[in-house]
Amino acid sequence: MPFIDRDFINDLPNRVDIVGLINKRVALKKAGKDYKACCPFHEEKTPSFTVVPTKEIYHCFGCGESGGIIDFVMKYDHLSFVEAIETVAGESGISVIYDQTAKPVDKRFERYNQIMTELNNFYQKQLKSSSTKNKVISYAKKRGISGAIAKRFELGFAPAGWTNLFDQYTDKKDSIKDLLSMGMIVQKKDKKDDYYDRFRNRLMFPIHNAKGSVIGFGGRVLSPEDNPKYLNSPETPLFSKSKELYGLYHCRKYSRRIDSILVVEGYMDVIALHQQGITNVVATLGTATTPAHLQVLSRSADTIVFCFDGDKAGKDAAWKALKTSLPSITSGLIIKFLILPEGEDPDTIIKQESAKAFSKRIETAQTLSSFLIDHIKAEVPFDTIEGKTLFLEKSASLINMVNYPIYRQQLIEGIANTVGQNIIQVEKAVEQNKTQNAQFSKNIHSGINQNSPKPMTQKPSINSNLSMKSLMSRMISCVLTYPSIVNDPETSSVIEERARKLPQSDVLLELIRHAQVESDLSKEALILPYKAKERVYLRLQQLSTMEPFLSEFEAKEEFSYALTAAEKYYERKSTKASILSAKTHDEEKAVMKSIMKSKMKTEGQKKTP
Ligand SMILES: [Zn+2]
Repeated sequence: MPFIDRDFINDLPNRVDIVGLINKRVALKKAGKDYKACCPFHEEKTPSFTVVPTKEIYHCFGCGESGGIIDFVMKYDHLSFVEAIETVAGESGISVIYDQTAKPVDKRFERYNQIMTELNNFYQKQLKSSSTKNKVISYAKKRGISGAIAKRFELGFAPAGWTNLFDQYTDKKDSIKDLLSMGMIVQKKDKKDDYYDRFRNRLMFPIHNAKGSVIGFGGRVLSPEDNPKYLNSPETPLFSKSKELYGLYHCRKYSRRIDSILVVEGYMDVIALHQQGITNVVATLGTATTPAHLQVLSRSADTIVFCFDGDKAGKDAAWKALKTSLPSITSGLIIKFLILPEGEDPDTIIKQESAKAFSKRIETAQTLSSFLIDHIKAEVPFDTIEGKTLFLEKSASLINMVNYPIYRQQLIEGIANTVGQNIIQVEKAVEQNKTQNAQFSKNIHSGINQNSPKPMTQKPSINSNLSMKSLMSRMISCVLTYPSIVNDPETSSVIEERARKLPQSDVLLELIRHAQVESDLSKEALILPYKAKERVYLRLQQLSTMEPFLSEFEAKEEFSYALTAAEKYYERKSTKASILSAKTHDEEKAVMKSIMKSKMKTEGQKKTP
């Protein structure tokens, strides 16, 4: 993310023509010194949207929307702040001044973008000229993709053969390196300078970022015998599955208004819906919805509709999306769920029905609260007293994931209605669940605080109620439930390093490394490699159920507390061991001195971020 110069940002509104820029998007009419239009941000018949050029602002007297040109473009074009600055500057013919003292723009990224554009052109050309193009075209036609839509999404074809890309760049060493960094070629096992193409004989879907640059590819096989059916670019410096959404660029470009945004499971769904005129649609890229996705989505529309297949996997994915959504709910954001009949996806169903019928499905999608209640109800024997108690407990832990007070209250009311109890009783259950969670965190905190302020001359106490084993277990449980917490590019290597220094951390360390390679591995996949070691496997299975259940954010905090507590614990233990090993008084003094020294050093390191 480039940093834009502060002064440039402050000065930009004075340098551009607010009337001209808004008029490009909404037809303005002169009214005295000001300009008027029907407001693009709310439905109205008489214009109450006003642009005041002398003040460089706009204001709507109907809905209260107001701000400067950057606010307008952010809201109207559904862009982030930086993107809006770049757009306003670009449309006004002004070049953006980036802050040179901040992070320098990495030259590699320019090369990466360049090579991805070249490959995108290459694949598209192959779709037109390759000798096997007919096979691809007939496949696309069979799936109902028109030429216009194929062009809109820049579909291409990766021809069969192992070295199509490698051969093109064979005399450019840097390009080979870049292809490798972009995951487009793969190094052969045990052969250093030998590579093969990742995508072969596949229909290619370029993946664009929000600005429209190609950052990765997805490829689909043409014949049912080949597998895997879909293949995506791996994680690269340009492409991160947990952040990107397929079709976001096209959604913004081809939708006039984005009141709601539909989140589907695959790129064929996005394309099929565009084909039928439904353009406010994106897909996650072979991963569950992440908090980062939600951030982008909530900036793009006020209503997010998650659409899933009605089979077991689809329902599980929907439930996961619900849990990720709970902490993100804020004022004005509505989240809904559209569960399709089992075995259907948007692509198949919109062809059977009509675009109109499908739009109706989107409009009448289930609200988050009703989906939540139905789901927990189905998990417990709801007709019994025990079942109702269990229902209440499960709901309480989910309600505690919601930060937005009004929504929290509404959920409590909904749960009270469902279970036939009064609101105060439900509130009590929620409070109880919160106390249980807090108690656990407190235990971990006390494990840390107990020791840090104590002078080292005092005998360190090891009577913490948390042993190394239980801290390790807690960390493992956090990683199994949310592999992404150890996957933050800024902290992951530090975490790995810190875990490596702990005793008996092999399993934790392996899990961390595993999670870093593939961020969206399921728990089952993460523990599968231990199947042969029965005892470890059983223990990991136990640890994969998180009790009490925490949100991803809480788990991240907890992991970090547990890691620090484990370090303190280990430090304490080794201090004691070295003091005991000192034979003479002088030796003991030397040991103490070196401990004090290393302690001061680590304290000092912690203070500088
Ligand atoms: Zn308005």
